[in-house]
Amino acid sequence: MTDPTCIFCRIVRGEIPCEKIYEDDAVLAFMDIGPIIKGHALIIPKAHYERIIDVPPDLLGRVIAVTQRVARALFDGLGADGVNIHQTNGAVAGQTVPHVHFHAIPRFEGDGHSWNWRAGAYADRAEMAGLAGRLRDALKSS
Ligand code: AMP
Ligand code: ZN
Repeated sequence: MTDPTCIFCRIVRGEIPCEKIYEDDAVLAFMDIGPIIKGHALIIPKAHYERIIDVPPDLLGRVIAVTQRVARALFDGLGADGVNIHQTNGAVAGQTVPHVHFHAIPRFEGDGHSWNWRAGAYADRAEMAGLAGRLRDALKSS
């Protein structure tokens, strides 16, 4: 499972350099070249899957377990005050590299970063319940 045109597959194959922080037979973690906050790392499966929904659950569990270890290293190794874990699926969600990845971003008091997170509102309770019903149905068949 590799894509010759995928930049992260090329990193896995060693064709493009990366600043590696962790590697095993299935998972790779390395520094993000454009850090939101310095120390920002990426965790990926070595095999090419585009979105979180494409990854076999056992492998996804291993990627998330490494993500947890990287988060701990950000706290313990870099002295982070907090950590954001961020993950994107699809261009509309901001995914620029179509190889599934988890961002682990250290946060420090006064680091100046803020997420553009605007809380919205449902028209009424029925609108939320309708969407919840569709999700419950989808979850039954997933
Ligand atoms: P996303 O926008 O969620 O798809 O995240 C892609 C991330 O990959 C961005 O944060 C980029 O800075 C990062 N990135 C792209 N190319 C490289 C590279 N060659 N080495 C390390 N990080 C990269
Ligand atoms: Zn890939």
